[in-house]
Amino acid sequence: MLKKFLPNEHVKSVFDIQPASLKQRGIKGVITDLDNTLVAWDVKDATPEIVNWFKQMKEYDIKVMIISNNKQERVKIFSEPLDTPFVFSARKPLSRAFKVAAKQMGIKKENIVVIGDQLLTDVLGGNFAGFYTILVLPIVQTDGKVTRFNRKIERRILNYMRRKGKITWEE
Ligand SMILES: [Mg+2]
Repeated sequence: MLKKFLPNEHVKSVFDIQPASLKQRGIKGVITDLDNTLVAWDVKDATPEIVNWFKQMKEYDIKVMIISNNKQERVKIFSEPLDTPFVFSARKPLSRAFKVAAKQMGIKKENIVVIGDQLLTDVLGGNFAGFYTILVLPIVQTDGKVTRFNRKIERRILNYMRRKGKITWEE
């Protein structure tokens, strides 16, 4: 069970995930979280770097979809200027939103990576739904209320896995 909390890969930020190498691995689609993955949870709009990251994905013909547990308004305001499809109130870690996203993109799950900053929602959900998961470090250390609770549990899981030698990365 705990294995389901382990991402397939761990990087510092989304900028370590480059379209050229994704393409090389046969990846055609990206499902990404929003809050603390693309921008800080309290930042409304995409930064120029994020705009550029989306642009590069497009140039390599890699589809990106945002799936977020956050509310419609937040996700819509962020996603629309990027011209990227999105799912709000996704209820991760439930599988449904991940499957809906893959179907909407028209890409098989073997050719999709799931990116996010939380073990309990993004990684667990992505793993359960059968995707390749990539954990990023949260952009800021603060969080909304629900996430603060999740982080406490996450910390325990991380500490446990670190003791078991399952985690090699530093924070
Ligand atoms: Mg997040």
